[in-house]
Amino acid sequence: MNVNSATECTDATWNPVTGCTKISRGCDRCYAERFAERWRAGPGRNYEQGFDLRLWPNRLDQPSRWRKPRKIFVNSMSDLFHREIERGFLDRIFDAMEQADWHRYQILTKRSSLMRNYLRGRYANGRAPSHIWYGVTVEDQRAADRIEHLRDAPAGEGFLSLEPLLGPLDALELRGISWVIADGESGPGARHLKKSLGSADP
Ligand code: SF4
Repeated sequence: MNVNSATECTDATWNPVTGCTKISRGCDRCYAERFAERWRAGPGRNYEQGFDLRLWPNRLDQPSRWRKPRKIFVNSMSDLFHREIERGFLDRIFDAMEQADWHRYQILTKRSSLMRNYLRGRYANGRAPSHIWYGVTVEDQRAADRIEHLRDAPAGEGFLSLEPLLGPLDALELRGISWVIADGESGPGARHLKKSLGSADP
């Protein structure tokens, strides 16, 4: 996830899942992948499996052990709606967030249709709890469908992360969106927004 700005708005990160696979060009320089792969094969370390997907059942009770209210970024080192996360485990993550409801959770995904489908199933009779916020990443116009998926989900507070912004976006329909974060790419080899207009390449 490119979550730099989003995590700056939180007090803590909680990673009941780590690891992911790339899904769109916004993933090309995934910070989480670079960080995790740096520690691959370090026995006993949190990232001995590198960026391979891994579930962490022993972390599920972390929010309930944090007694003071926090703004928690969920899965900064993965994507909560990755296809390979078992449905039962996803349910347990949501159970944990609903139980520890004195916190505010922020979930950011690129798998927006899977998020919508999951939330429709879980909250079939109403809207999701208001202490869980949902966002989608939109790095260019090709990813703009994610906004519709977010709007179609029974999610309370919706936000957009337009980062790394890699290309132009048509006029955005912001109905139902509470918060928008936008930034370019940074670091060595960063694709500058102006340079990438009309081109997917650096
Ligand atoms: S979805 Fe997020 S965590 Fe997964 S590869 Fe892409 S940027 Fe990285």
